[in-house]
Amino acid sequence: MNPQVATRPPPGLFNMAKTPKAKQKEKTWKVFSRYIRLRDADENGFITCPTCGVRKKWNDGMQAGHCIQGRHNSILYDERGVYGQCMHCNYFMGGEYSKFIMFVIKKRGKKVVEDLLRLDKIPKTYSIEELKQIEEYYKKKTIPFEHKAL
Ligand SMILES: [Zn+2]
Repeated sequence: MNPQVATRPPPGLFNMAKTPKAKQKEKTWKVFSRYIRLRDADENGFITCPTCGVRKKWNDGMQAGHCIQGRHNSILYDERGVYGQCMHCNYFMGGEYSKFIMFVIKKRGKKVVEDLLRLDKIPKTYSIEELKQIEEYYKKKTIPFEHKAL
């Protein structure tokens, strides 16, 4: 067995070229996720996970989690349905959706959750221009919370 061949990644698997839209989507998500986590952080930059109660720094294992299971594009950047959540709940526990929904109902009311569920069913594709606009919108919206990032 030739070790050089064995350690080389299969062609295409690790080097998939991302489309410009996929790249922009990632950029927009980074800005949006940062906004969500800084919005939800206290003055010292700590977020309390809405589904397990763990307290962690906004940039230490905290993610922006959606409260709607299997959410679609239409509510991807709808901040009413996204909150700073710990990676354990968001990723390893699959989202903890039943607890998460209860949290959002308490925080914003049942009508918001109903609205999100309704919007979630509407097909949505973003143009690069739209994604850029969303990125700019949340960049500006993060400014009042920047002091928590330090
Ligand atoms: Zn958690």
